[in-house]
Order: sequence, then structure tokens, then C-alpha cells
Amino acid sequence: MKIVRSSSRLIPLSFWIVLLITCSTLVIAQSPDGKIDSAVIIHWNDFHSSNLPFEPTWGVPKGTFVGGYANVAGYIDSLRRVYPGALVLNGGDDFQGSPVSSLTKGMSQILILNRIKPSVMTIGNHEFDYGPLNLKKAISEAQFPFVSCNLYDSTKNGLLTEPYVIVQSGSLKIAVIGFVLKTMKHSTLPENVKGIGVLDPATEIMKYVRELNDRTDLIVVLSHNGDDYDSLIANNLSDVDVIIGAHSHTPIRKPAVVNNIVICQAGSNGRFVGLLNAKVDKARKSIVSYDYQLIETRLGGVTASPIIAHIVDSLESNIRVEMDRVIGDLKVSWKRNDRGESNIGSWICDVTREYFQTDIAMMNSGGIRKGLNAGPIKVRDLWEISPFDNSVEIISLTGEQLTELLKWRIENPRDFLQVSGLRYVYNNQQKHLISAEVNGKPIDPTKIYTIATNNFVVGQFERFFGLKPGAVDIRHTPIIGRDVMIDAVLKQPVIRYETDGRIIDQAGTY
Ligand SMILES: [Zn+2]
Repeated sequence: MKIVRSSSRLIPLSFWIVLLITCSTLVIAQSPDGKIDSAVIIHWNDFHSSNLPFEPTWGVPKGTFVGGYANVAGYIDSLRRVYPGALVLNGGDDFQGSPVSSLTKGMSQILILNRIKPSVMTIGNHEFDYGPLNLKKAISEAQFPFVSCNLYDSTKNGLLTEPYVIVQSGSLKIAVIGFVLKTMKHSTLPENVKGIGVLDPATEIMKYVRELNDRTDLIVVLSHNGDDYDSLIANNLSDVDVIIGAHSHTPIRKPAVVNNIVICQAGSNGRFVGLLNAKVDKARKSIVSYDYQLIETRLGGVTASPIIAHIVDSLESNIRVEMDRVIGDLKVSWKRNDRGESNIGSWICDVTREYFQTDIAMMNSGGIRKGLNAGPIKVRDLWEISPFDNSVEIISLTGEQLTELLKWRIENPRDFLQVSGLRYVYNNQQKHLISAEVNGKPIDPTKIYTIATNNFVVGQFERFFGLKPGAVDIRHTPIIGRDVMIDAVLKQPVIRYETDGRIIDQAGTY
């Protein structure tokens, strides 16, 4: 098929620069004599439960707000009014990213999506963040279809969802096949994907393409794979017309065309909604030309959906009650220190070590996002101190490795680690470890010690510890560090914590 760009040469370049910001047009083949139909696809992806509007950090004047599900739904509604037969596709990862998703295990998003009613949604890696049972519950409560052709569920010896759906859009029968990236299991905890297998995407997609080709006019792949990988996989596909992408959060203003497949993706967090308007030669079952717009969902551009606004408000007000709950009384202000021991760091590590019954706990100071003045401790404070949903991991290593690790940390000081169970004296100027003990005893080089830390630190194991991750044993837990802290405050609400000299720099630098 010959790809011909529309006659842009005759028009001044400046016009195209302006136009390309909002609209991209491409003629893929010469217009045939046969009948031409329109296929319109409205899509978004990687919403990450950012249900409230936000101010982007780039690309807009200060004070400009975008996104928010009521507003995004308003944009989708207004496009649906213009294109009543349009396909509305969600590329996955609607879960995870804000308290409301964590506290409802993603059900907040299902509640909202049940009103938006996308034609189809595919499953992203973050839909697994609350475990496979929770995802199955979400799928069963969804009033719209989920599709994924390469997620295998061993408990039922079959696919987790339907691999595809066929949607009638105007005069066209459009198949939508979903899939998730092959390496999905690397980006979540093993517990979250227990019993789930990820099959080879290209093989599975082609299996269904062969099945669908005669029965449909157009084949759309709804991908949760990232745009680079979408371009790669496009080379291994045939008879696929469009890839609607997700996962890499890429705002694609001008779709790539690879192997005659039009590849789109609409950024993330609802900042953009993509609109593909393709002219389809029904006889040849292919796209002859298309227009594409990446529409920024600026607040005030359309009327927000009152129904979604109501759902978002009620979800947030439930959260507000939980977030404003006073659960403790802080007697001495929690102060952060990213160059040495801090009382908040010591408290976090002590409660983590206690919870997991390990010898040692370590926490990167950079992960402690705020201090707290003496006074009431609210649930919200702990969310703000630890906004990331980092889970706890348990490292087992020998005393010899532990000493090596400490020496390496002193020589390569970055993101100072708060500790518990461990005391050590060092000289920061000479970069030298003077002494170290675990729970009052010198480190035994042959003994196995356990360290509880977060999956962010473990994810950058070599950078933090100077040891190869394979050199030690690492056990994942599904438990979020913040939940451990909330649990600790509930158990011991009156907190008076001072630093106790567990880390001493003899040079007195800090
Ligand atoms: Zn993803």
C-alpha cells in the first residue's frame, strides 16, 4: 500500500506547525472508487485514578487545569454527540495513583467507568495492583467489556477475559483485540499476578486476526504495551489497521504509521483524549486516510459531566472523612534529615522492623516526603509523609555482605538510609566505617541477617548497596510501607521520638 501525505507542501510551514499541534492528517492510499465509511475512535489511557483536575507541570500557562474524570467525561460526551457511532476505548491502568483508588482497591474507577461506559477497555499492569481476585471482582462488576488476548488465568485454564469484541460502529463491524505487554509480570509483585500467565502478544493477536478477518471490516488492537514496543510489534502483524496504545504515557500528536498500522496514544492521567477519524474502504477492509487530534482536556473547554462530578465528589468525601481521622498524638515534632539520622526515619524503621520481625530495617530519606509538627496525627499526614504505594521487601544476607554494604554506603553517600536494629559509627571525611553492631552485638560475618526495606530501594539494589541483586535473597511482600505506619500509630498513638545516636559521624560533618 502506498502512503501519501496530504498536500502540505503548498501551505506555509507555520500553518502546519500550528495545525500539527491539534490535528494530524494522513492519506494512506489513493481513494478508491468504492464506498468509503468513517470509523471514529475516541480513546484515553493510563488515567491512574487522577479523578480530580490537576495543573500540568509543562506545556500550559500557569493556573491551567486539565483532566479530572467529570471534565474528561464531558469531553467524551461532547465528542460522542458529534460522532454518535464512535468507538470509545480505554487503554488500561485506570487503577492506582491516588488515595481513592488504593482505599477502594480500584473500585472507585469501575464505579466511574460504569457511567462513562467505554465500548471496550483493556487490562493494564496496574489493574493487577490489588491482586488477581480483586481484578476479577472488578471485571465482574464492570458494565462494559474488558478484553485481553494474552492474559492466561490458570485457575480456569483459559483467558482471564474475552480476547476481543466486535463492535458495530455505523456501517462498520470493528473488532477490538486487547493485549498487555509481555513483561507485565516484572512491573508488579508476584502475589499480584499469581496464577496469571502472559502469552506472546504477536502470536495471540495474529491467531484472532485470522479468525476475525472475514467477519469484520476493521481490526483495532487495544494495546497496553508502550509506543516503542507498539512500533516493534506492528512489524509482526498483518491485517491490523490501528493500534490504540497505552503504558508509556506518550502523548502522540501525530500517529506513527508502521507496516500500514496507525499507532496512537493519548498521554496519561486524562490530560488528553485522542480522536481518530479514519476513512475506511469497506471493500478492501483498510484505512485510506485519517485525521487525528490529541485533544487537551482543559478545564472549562466543555461542560463537565454532572453525574461523574457527583460520583467523584462522593468518593472524595468518603476519603476526606478517612483522611481527616485523627489516629495519634505526636509529642515531639517529626523532623526529616537527608544527611543523617532523623527521629521520623528512626520511627519508620523501628515500626517496620517490629512489624516484619527482621534484624534490621532501612528506609531511604528521599522517600520521607514531609515532617510533622507536634500535635494530632491524621491518616492524611501519613499519606503525605509516604505518598508512594511502595511495598516492603525482605533482604537476607550474610554479616560479611552487610559490612560490605555499610562500607559501600559510606563511600557512595546518596539518599541517606535511615535505620533500625543497626548502630554504626563512621567518619564521613575519611569515608571510613569505624564500628557497627546489630541489636547490641558485633556483626558476625557468617550469620544471616534480615533487612526490611521498600521495593524502591530494592528496585535500585546495586545503586543503593553496591551488591548485585542476585548476591542476596530478596522476598517480596504485598504490604505497603504506609499501611505499616498507620497500623503502628493505631497501636501506639502517643509518639515521643528522639534521635538516639544510632548513626554517628565521628568527623561531625552532620
Ligand atoms: Zn502500564
